[in-house]
Amino acid sequence: MKLLEDRIRKDGKIKGGDVLKVDSFLNHQMDVDLFNEIGKEFQRLYGDCGVTKILTIEASGIGIACVTAQFFHCPVIFAKKNKTKNIAGDVYTSQVESFTHGKVYDIIVAKEFLLPTDRVLLIDDFLANGSALQGLINLVRDAGATLVGAGICVEKAFQPGGDLIRSMGVRVESLARVKSMSEENGITFC
Ligand code: 5GP
Repeated sequence: MKLLEDRIRKDGKIKGGDVLKVDSFLNHQMDVDLFNEIGKEFQRLYGDCGVTKILTIEASGIGIACVTAQFFHCPVIFAKKNKTKNIAGDVYTSQVESFTHGKVYDIIVAKEFLLPTDRVLLIDDFLANGSALQGLINLVRDAGATLVGAGICVEKAFQPGGDLIRSMGVRVESLARVKSMSEENGITFC
């Protein structure tokens, strides 16, 4: 998606070689007009798949997922990062290793919101090593729901997540695929 690539070129900041900061428009301050275009693009890609729920992970996926859901006219569920030890039996749970912090944490979704009859589209801001998506996929599978695919804003294609998730037979659509990036040479897209 050219609009997103242009914006990343203009306002994205590369940190430490493998982290792309997009705080000024995607995951701190949010450009809602851009989110609208992102949502329309996901609708163009997945609009004929009978999506009944959009599933994302807190916190930075939520805004994008909500704007996108307006084009699908379906609810958004966000997987919560679980902070309490005692997990009741009424939630699906999975583990995610944070790319940015390196910590492993549990994510949960209440069983009442993810049904075997659901057709689920996953939405997230970034795809790096694939742990976040893998965690969301586990929740969908545990619920016996149908996974339609994943819509990602920025895939860092030089990291293994995209290949990993696609090799599982999951459709992944990324609106900007970063081929390489460095503080010296900037950013190139696939
Ligand atoms: P993964 O689980 O695929 O390794 O990483 C995906 C998650 O880590 C995303 O939900 C996103 O929040 C975060 N993330 C991974 N890489 C980046 C990055 O380069 N920049 C930012 N801002 N977040 C990232």
